[in-house]
Amino acid sequence: MDVKEREMLAEILFPDIKHDRDYYEKLYPERDLKDGAMVTRYGPSPTGSVHLGNLFSAFCDMVYARQSGGKFFLRIEDTDQKRAVDGGIENITGVLKGFNILPNEGYSYGGEYGPYLQSERTEIYQTYVKDLIIKGYAYPCFMTEEELAAIREEQEISKVKIGIYGHYAVDRDLSLEEIKEKLANGEEYVIRLKSPGNSKKEVEMVDCIKGKIKFPEYDMDVVLLKKDGTPTYHLAHVIDDHLMHTTHVIRGDEWVSSLPLHIQLFEILGFKRPEYAHIAPITIKDSETGTIRKLSKRKDLWAGAKYYEEEGIPIEALHLYLATITNTNFEEWYLNNQDKSIEDFTFSFDKQAIGGTSFDEAKLNNICKTYFSRKSGEEVYEETLKYTEKFDKEYHKLLVENKDLMIKFLSIEKDSSRPRKDISKYSDVKEEFSYAIDSIFKKENYSKYDGNKQYDVKLVTDYIDNYLDLDVSNDEWFSKIKDFARENGYASSPKDYKNNPEMYKGHVGDICEAIRVIVTGRDKSPDLFSIMKILGKEDIKKRIRLYDNYLNK
Ligand code: GLU
Repeated sequence: MDVKEREMLAEILFPDIKHDRDYYEKLYPERDLKDGAMVTRYGPSPTGSVHLGNLFSAFCDMVYARQSGGKFFLRIEDTDQKRAVDGGIENITGVLKGFNILPNEGYSYGGEYGPYLQSERTEIYQTYVKDLIIKGYAYPCFMTEEELAAIREEQEISKVKIGIYGHYAVDRDLSLEEIKEKLANGEEYVIRLKSPGNSKKEVEMVDCIKGKIKFPEYDMDVVLLKKDGTPTYHLAHVIDDHLMHTTHVIRGDEWVSSLPLHIQLFEILGFKRPEYAHIAPITIKDSETGTIRKLSKRKDLWAGAKYYEEEGIPIEALHLYLATITNTNFEEWYLNNQDKSIEDFTFSFDKQAIGGTSFDEAKLNNICKTYFSRKSGEEVYEETLKYTEKFDKEYHKLLVENKDLMIKFLSIEKDSSRPRKDISKYSDVKEEFSYAIDSIFKKENYSKYDGNKQYDVKLVTDYIDNYLDLDVSNDEWFSKIKDFARENGYASSPKDYKNNPEMYKGHVGDICEAIRVIVTGRDKSPDLFSIMKILGKEDIKKRIRLYDNYLNK
């Protein structure tokens, strides 16, 4: 076909496309940003729940754009309507908001480069494909499903590359007359790329994270527009990233294999291509097989974004964890700059892992514990209140009713130079402070503790009734309890006991343990004297009776 014929064909195929490329090029002008500003995008498909890996890539989009004074936008890539799930889009926007990964523009945020929903951009894609037809880079292909299946089978048998290329691309060189005839017969068609590539030639490109990548030139006639005229992802994202002026495509490295096609599309469309930064997947050691594999939503609780919300992992802590897996030098930096925030750190692609980044639950827990240890009792209370409002209504009510009391408990040891690291998520508060609210402290609290170990109720009663003075300092309290220990045949220090175990029934620590378990139902707790002060003698006595009851059940 010559140009004239291709122009005629373009008109026949796209009679309703009124604009030309220039129209869109003008509609979406260059962004007015300073040199070096990165424009990044998160382009999720609404095909299911959000994965930690998705959050990770959106987090990268956000930090790189933010630190360079650029823009981070959200584009919903819903080209594959068959895979779209109900509520998928709301889920994405909800998760981003919930996790405080906030785009500057995009779907549900607005902006000058929209619409940001691919299904609303069909006309734009068709305009560019119309142009490709004229230029001889695209053609209608009328092959039926059966014909395609037969080709595939033949290719599988003869062990050659699967796809439509070379002599398999039978409709590549149809004449205008032949096409018209097929159209007149009502034959269905897709629009395919007329790939100019030669797989014997090599292409080289530099990925911001992976470095130099080499691959054979792309030579397949992939589908650009489906039978219903909607685009495939490959075509859509190339046009969008061009018109939305993305400077850096940051995405999972499962897309590396599609790069040859994407690069070719940028070339034939005459677009300057953005930089690519393919991020390594988050991996985990499979508990059954011991092998390293990708984090999987099906197998790993930690993989789904929702899990973090439901468990009550603080967003700020999760951001710190994501920063840790984004750049290998972040953790050390943060350790040395604890008064700073993520925004003060400069991320760079060359500090990004190339292979998989393994998911480290212990590290995440530790980050969370440090986060909580630095918060005041009041802050922990307020945040827990928000969490329970959504995920534990019953406990929420109790927290509201016992505000002052809870803040007192949550504030114990907060002024120490090494504050306790007991909570790693909001859902831990209920258990860690299970002794705080008297109305929910039940006999059953003792059963969580080692039931075989019985504590001396008489001894503890004697102590509470006759020795405990709640109006003294912590030091005085401890010195008094040592006296009590001695008077009752216990060593006043573990060391004394260790030197002469036969002389004692135990040591002061054992007495403290007995009091702690009876008062709190736990063998670990924040400072015991502080707890007793807040509870008061009457409540403590109630606990002794309850424990006695528990023993004599
Ligand atoms: N829509 C693609 C996905 O769901 C995004 C690929 C890309 O970011 O280019 O993973």
